[in-house]
Amino acid sequence: MALITRHSRCKICGELIGSEPVVGFPHFVRNHKDPLFMFTDAPFHRTCFLAHPLREQVEKRRRMSILVRDWDISVYGKISEAKVRVLHRPLEHFRISRSVYSAGEDDGGSMRACICYVLRGACSYSFGPEELIEIHESQFAHLPEGSYEFRVLGEQPIELILVWTPPKESQVVSGPSGSD
Ligand SMILES: [Zn+2]
Repeated sequence: MALITRHSRCKICGELIGSEPVVGFPHFVRNHKDPLFMFTDAPFHRTCFLAHPLREQVEKRRRMSILVRDWDISVYGKISEAKVRVLHRPLEHFRISRSVYSAGEDDGGSMRACICYVLRGACSYSFGPEELIEIHESQFAHLPEGSYEFRVLGEQPIELILVWTPPKESQVVSGPSGSD
């Protein structure tokens, strides 16, 4: 988050923040063309933000925001299935499945909350019209429960690992999509 001082300017009205109550959000929109991009990493007068027509959308998006993180190569070395498995112990508490999809493939359905690690290639997941994320090689993200669409990005196949916690009552083996 950029440093906010009384000399920062409110991104909505353009006036100095001064001594008025201020709000600001850390980076939550990456796409410059997104209408909500102006709310990312910028200060606003509280009153300006509360009166803004996009306020509800900002709040909704912020609640949903999925963080895509980089696999820490300096700590764990190159990402691999074996290394992902080591991070999820004891093994009986997790279901771990590896999948490979070809370029251009897509998929969708309903998933349980899980963690997606991308070993190679890139993909996108969307959860409704509001939330579209891309996960690239050596990145991972905690994905929410719910209906999703999945797409392989680029010309390369993708290899990914999904990790989820099976419900305690039924230690049934089934994929995050609930279909395998
Ligand atoms: Zn303002």
